[in-house]
Amino acid sequence: MTTLALSKIKKSFGNLDIIRGVDLAIGSGEFVVFVGPSGCGKSTLLRMIAGLEPISGGELSIGGERMNEKEASQRGIAMVFQSYALYPHMSVYKNMSFGLETAKMPKPEIDKRVRKAADILQITHLLDRKPKQLSGGQRQRVAIGRAIVRDPKIFLFDEPLSNLDAELRVQTRVEIAKLHKDIGATMIYVTHDQVEAMTLADRIVVLRAGVIEQHGTPLEIYNRPANRFVAGFIGSPK
Ligand code: ADP
Ligand code: MG
Repeated sequence: MTTLALSKIKKSFGNLDIIRGVDLAIGSGEFVVFVGPSGCGKSTLLRMIAGLEPISGGELSIGGERMNEKEASQRGIAMVFQSYALYPHMSVYKNMSFGLETAKMPKPEIDKRVRKAADILQITHLLDRKPKQLSGGQRQRVAIGRAIVRDPKIFLFDEPLSNLDAELRVQTRVEIAKLHKDIGATMIYVTHDQVEAMTLADRIVVLRAGVIEQHGTPLEIYNRPANRFVAGFIGSPK
């Protein structure tokens, strides 16, 4: 079942056309990875889906309902940023609870959600710490926890592992895969790392200069790249 549909989505900044007509249907529970070179529009596309950036043209719908004009908070989406987006003066607990408090959720429900997310991410022992007392990997888990507590239907990740060293990148990648398996939410994940794309994705979407060059399962893309650009980016060595 399609949960998220992009139809002829466009984005211009002034007279620069950055996203130039993107059509994509994403299934409920699907793990979709956007790849493409720096500057091709991956973050811009995610930000439009999240409601953080107005859409210049086309239609975005979730569960069949048009979302273009909806506030970010009404879309049932949570976006995971790089870990440096944590609030430095707040505890881990507060970093995770803050958004829910702002939304006036009752305290016991907030507490339940924060503790459940902390349990999933194995950070319960860190709830009283401040971000600067955490390792990079722990910070990234808090950033993911902040998304989980909102119980979103759709998670968006924008290069969540790019600040981590190689070992932690692998570890956190495995945890994100497990999270997807455990909670079954739809996930869209941006990376320029081919290994992350190949291992995480149900489907890879290859972007170039604001258009989709090809989308398909990792094996389809790897074995049958549509053109030399895709082959050079992710395809099999020829
Ligand atoms: P990616 O995430 O794939 O590296 P981005 O979505 O960040 O690419 O950026 C795509 C293009 O849009 C880049 O050329 C970038 O300079 C441009 N861009 C992004 N945000 C803005 C903005 N607010 N104003 C003008 N240009 C922007
Ligand atoms: Mg980006």
